[in-house]
Amino acid sequence: MRYAAPTTVDEARDLLTGNPGSRVFAGATDLIPQIRAGRPEPSVLVDLKRIDQLVSITESDGRWTVGAATPTSALTGNDAFTAAFPGLSEASGLIGSDQIQNRSSWGGNLCNASPAADSVPALVANDARAVIATGDGTRTVPVEEIVTGPGQTSLADGEFVVEFEVDAPPAATADAYLRMIPRTEMDIAVAGAAVRLTMDGDTCTAASVVLGAVAPTVIRVPEAEAALVGSTLDDDTLAAVAAAASAACDPIDDKRGTVEYRRQVAGVLAKRAATIAAERAGGAS
Ligand SMILES: Cc1cc2nc3c(=O)[nH]c(=O)nc-3n(C[C@H](O)[C@H](O)[C@H](O)COP(=O)(O)OP(=O)(O)OC[C@H]3O[C@@H](n4cnc5c(N)ncnc54)[C@H](O)[C@@H]3O)c2cc1C
Repeated sequence: MRYAAPTTVDEARDLLTGNPGSRVFAGATDLIPQIRAGRPEPSVLVDLKRIDQLVSITESDGRWTVGAATPTSALTGNDAFTAAFPGLSEASGLIGSDQIQNRSSWGGNLCNASPAADSVPALVANDARAVIATGDGTRTVPVEEIVTGPGQTSLADGEFVVEFEVDAPPAATADAYLRMIPRTEMDIAVAGAAVRLTMDGDTCTAASVVLGAVAPTVIRVPEAEAALVGSTLDDDTLAAVAAAASAACDPIDDKRGTVEYRRQVAGVLAKRAATIAAERAGGAS
């Protein structure tokens, strides 16, 4: 196995197209344990962290651009980013430990394609887009179109995510992310819920509700979104949000949580995240 550390996107693209079976990585916090566990070794490991564009955070004309290999600690440590996207920041800050977060990236969290990846529901709730380097250029797709199943993505061989684009939220809009883990920290979500709301006073005017770890990919819950829009997040609305989230789940049954448990927890997390997002947006609580 060869290690390569390109410093430009073009150089990385050439390495990938010229070496079939090669693989990109950022923090390697998923990749190294997988190789150690016996996954086939790539011919060339392409380190993305030496490419400036892939480790930068910029905000311009109401759009945030985050390099795909940016350590998540750089996001949680960015006050302006965290003020704009408190839920996306808290989701990024739940990945592993401080040590892990100095390495872990959104690109790796997304492209590892674990259903339990913490940043992905919050990225989808914020309508984030991924800019992908293709063989001869770039294409931009909604983040929710990248993961197609556990360990599976829609990226073609040799393609990689260069950066993420997220529009700054409109006025009176905020997000929140909550997850349930069996331990107090350093565990993978049994269920996760990201909610983004826009409020007009105490009334919700726009809603995104996205669940993680309860289906093969993250899922939007349109019924929960419909229940929230036009409501003041009264008890009946929150009960409808919880019921819709529970009903939308298609979870696995394993030692960390039964199907029934995951369904129940997803509903509770969705309504709690909605309440927090509304408070942050300056509306109902
Ligand atoms: C102790 C520990 C605790 C953890 N806790 C959590 C947790 O609480 N929540 C959570 O969600 N995850 C957790 N993880 C998993 C992991 O840290 C995260 O998924 C992390 O975000 C992966 O980022 P990375 O940069 O290290 O990915 P890497 O390991 O570098 O890459 C992961 C995969 O994505 C691919 N990839 C990486 N970057 C790109 C790109 N730009 N374009 C295309 N493909 C790419 C790689 O080829 C590889 O297949 C934990 C891991 C460990 C070891």
